[in-house]
Amino acid sequence: MERAELVIEGARVIDGSGAPERRADVAVEAERIAAVGELAGWRANERIDAAGLVLAPGFIDVHTHDDGALLRTPDLPFKLSQGVTTVIAGNCGISLAPLPEGAPLPAPLNLLGGPDDFRYPTVESYRRALGAAGHGVNVALLVGHSCLRVAALGEDLERAAPPGALTAMQVALELALDQGAIGLSSGLDYPPALAAPPEELVALASVLRGHARAVYTTHMRDESDGVVESVRETLETGRQAGARVVISHHKCAGPKNFGRSVETLAMIDAARRHQPVALDVYPYTASSTALLPRFLRDPAMVLVSWSDSHPEAGGRRLDAIAADWGCSPLEAIERLDPAGAVYFQMDEDDLRRILAHPAAMVGSDGLPGRRLPHPRLWGSFPRVLARYVREQGLLDLPTAVHKMTGLSAETFGLEGRGLVREGHAADLVLFDPETVADRAGFEDPEQPAAGIARVFVNGVEAWRDGQATGRRAGRFLTH
Ligand SMILES: [Zn+2]
Repeated sequence: MERAELVIEGARVIDGSGAPERRADVAVEAERIAAVGELAGWRANERIDAAGLVLAPGFIDVHTHDDGALLRTPDLPFKLSQGVTTVIAGNCGISLAPLPEGAPLPAPLNLLGGPDDFRYPTVESYRRALGAAGHGVNVALLVGHSCLRVAALGEDLERAAPPGALTAMQVALELALDQGAIGLSSGLDYPPALAAPPEELVALASVLRGHARAVYTTHMRDESDGVVESVRETLETGRQAGARVVISHHKCAGPKNFGRSVETLAMIDAARRHQPVALDVYPYTASSTALLPRFLRDPAMVLVSWSDSHPEAGGRRLDAIAADWGCSPLEAIERLDPAGAVYFQMDEDDLRRILAHPAAMVGSDGLPGRRLPHPRLWGSFPRVLARYVREQGLLDLPTAVHKMTGLSAETFGLEGRGLVREGHAADLVLFDPETVADRAGFEDPEQPAAGIARVFVNGVEAWRDGQATGRRAGRFLTH
C-alpha cells in the first residue's frame, strides 16, 4: 500500500498550468508532491478533508522588496496570509545584497532598511544569514542595478558608469549570479540610476546570457508621459543583450496617459513574437514608493505613508500638510524627507487590461517595515481572486491562479515549483473561493486576508487559521 506524510482529500485542484479545475487528492511526502489523483487507498500520518476548498500551488510574489523583512520578520505574515509561498526579492534596482558595508544609501535604497540592515557585501553572505535565521517562505534574489552602481561609483551617481566601473559592475553581477542570484533588476526612474544610459543596461544584461534562465526585470525610466518610449527602450535592451525581460508593475500613470496600455501592450505583443517578454502588475490604481519631488503631480492625490523627520504626517494628504505648514507641496516634500507615499494616479481600465494580458503575472510590490504601507503588501493576491475573479469575472480562476504560480515559475526559471504535479515541491495553498478576500485598506492596511485556510511551504504547514505556525521551511531558490 502507498503511504505519505499527508494526504489532502477531495480538493478542487487548480494546478497552476491554466488547466480547468478537477477534483483530486494530493499526497505529500518528503517536501514534495508524491501523487495527485484518487488516493483513497493511501495510508497517511495526517489527512485533511478539503471538500469545497481550492487547492492551488502556493502563490509566487514575483515583485517584492522583502529582502530585509525576511531577516526582520522571518514568518513574513503579510505574505503567508495571502497564500504566498515564494517571493522574488531585489526588484526595482535595489537589493540588500551585494553592497559593501558602509556604502551610501540614497533613496530608494532606504526603502529596504538602514545601515544596520545593509550588511551583505556578497549574495553568499546574505544567503548564509537567511539560512541561519530561517524564513517562512522561499526566496529568490535579483541583483539591483542601483546597488551595483553605488558600489562602483560611490556618491558620484550622476554620470554614466565609465568603462572601468562598468567592468567592475559586470564582475560583481557575475559573482552574484554564481552565488545564486537569479537575475538583474533596474529602477531607472530613481535618482541612483537616472544617469545610466541604455548601453549601461545592455552591457549588464548581457552578463545574463551566460546563465540560462536568468531574467532582467525593470522599473522603467518613465511610467507616465514617456511610458511608450520606456517600453521601447526595455524591449531594445532585452533584444540587444539577448536577455529575458520582465516589465515591473506595468502602469500608465497620470490622467494624460490613461488608456495608453492599449499601445504598450500591443508593443509587447509584437515583441513577444521574437523575444521573451513578460510583465507584473498589482491590482490597485494607486502606486507607492519614496516621496520624491520628481514623482509629484497632484498633491491632493498623494497620501504620505511615513516620514522619518515628521512621523505625525503619516496617513495625511500632501496638500493638507503643505496648507498647514503654509508652504508649497515641493517644500513640504523636502521637509518630510526621508519619506514614503501612496500616489493615486492610475486608471481602472488600464489595470484590467494589463492584468488580463497573457504575459502578466501578479506581483505585490509591497513595501514592508513601515507604518501605513500601501495595502498591496497584505492584499494583492486575495484581491485579484475576490475582485477580478469572483466579483467582476475579468479572469477565470484557473487563469488567475496561473498568473500567480505556473506562469511566474516558468518566467523566473523556478524549476519544480508553481504547479500541483507529482515531483514538484509541496508549496500549496488551500482557500475558499467563495470567501477569499483582501481586508487591507489604505487606512487600515495591515490586515490578513479572509478565506486562506492553510498554506504549506516545502510540505511544512506554515499558515493555518489566520496565524503563522512558526515552522520556517523556506528555501533560498537558485537556478
Ligand atoms: Zn518599482
